[in-house]
Amino acid sequence: MLKMSREVKPLASTMPLGAHARNAHYSLLSVWSENVIRVCQSCGQKNRIPPSRLHQVGYCGACKAELSANNAPIDVDQQTFDQIVKEAQVPVLVDFWADWCAPCRMAAPEVKKLAEEMVGRALVLKVNTENEPQLAARYNIRAIPNFLILRGGQVVSQQAGLADHRRMKTWLEQGSQAA
Ligand SMILES: [Zn+2]
Repeated sequence: MLKMSREVKPLASTMPLGAHARNAHYSLLSVWSENVIRVCQSCGQKNRIPPSRLHQVGYCGACKAELSANNAPIDVDQQTFDQIVKEAQVPVLVDFWADWCAPCRMAAPEVKKLAEEMVGRALVLKVNTENEPQLAARYNIRAIPNFLILRGGQVVSQQAGLADHRRMKTWLEQGSQAA
């Protein structure tokens, strides 16, 4: 469970986590299979992509057509999160968000833009804090939106509050230098 300290005053661009915790529900289905399976546009073959290669262009196992590198935010549960941050060969930005958080909704198109711009150079994950409160607790997240930069499974930096994709990009660039 998330523990909220009453004294913690969130930034104006963030929403406190915890008040809505009683509405939390768990997603019992792992989204893992959706995320690593890439359907070939040419032949319809389902290709399984290991996390270490998510940032790369791949080739269909059946017809050898090109499978594009990951260029969109990936919605993850805890299991998928752990697997990807452990195996990713590039820096990872994680967007902690929730439906009820207005600044999070404003950040969402920026996060999407970031994933497009950083294709091949970074991975972008999204964690719904309603579904995954244990992940938010692990990283001591008290207010959202909250952005975590990881490299080789280690936290490089953490930023609370609304930001645009250019700022997020600098965090990722700093993250790759830290490696
Ligand atoms: Zn194919």
